[in-house]
Amino acid sequence: MPMNFAGIREKTLVLIKPDGIQRGLIGEVFKRFEQKGLKVVGVKMMTLDEAKLREHYAHLAEKPFFPGVSQFMQKSPVVAVCLEGLEVIAAVRKIVGITKAREAEAGSIRGDFAMSLTCNVVHASDSVETAMKEVPRFFKEDEIHDYLKSEYENVYLAEELNA
Ligand code: ADP
Repeated sequence: MPMNFAGIREKTLVLIKPDGIQRGLIGEVFKRFEQKGLKVVGVKMMTLDEAKLREHYAHLAEKPFFPGVSQFMQKSPVVAVCLEGLEVIAAVRKIVGITKAREAEAGSIRGDFAMSLTCNVVHASDSVETAMKEVPRFFKEDEIHDYLKSEYENVYLAEELNA
């Protein structure tokens, strides 16, 4: 069967947060996504400002804890990552774990590396609708790379790649 990879183009946004940068977890976070078989299609380090954070966390902007979240997210640069794969948004949320890190499942990134409700190492898009807004918020079109990943033929069945 010819492979057009049409089914595996879903994209999600991950941010390695300032605590992940400060604690030397960039490689560990990438390792977990790469070992799962996910494709990295965009990477950049950036410093977030208040305006960007108000947009990104619009659903929290009026919460009393928002100033603390905003301050934390500006403590150092973050690493923005765009990942691609079949149902990648849901798969990445599982790898990341729940928001309150000290209750996150062991084996997840937050479960293994964090204790805080705020300093929880990574952000990941939580739905298809969110991801479609978040990827372009952090990446220009020409910063997302389209390339063949040779291991895909061993990560997916041909039928899944063409779904
Ligand atoms: P998630 O990052 O798991 O999708 P949310 O979108 O609800 O969770 O929150 C965004 C981020 O804001 C969290 O990852 C965390 O850093 C911070 N946060 C969320 N809720 C709280 C809270 N009640 N107190 C402090 N920080 C919070």
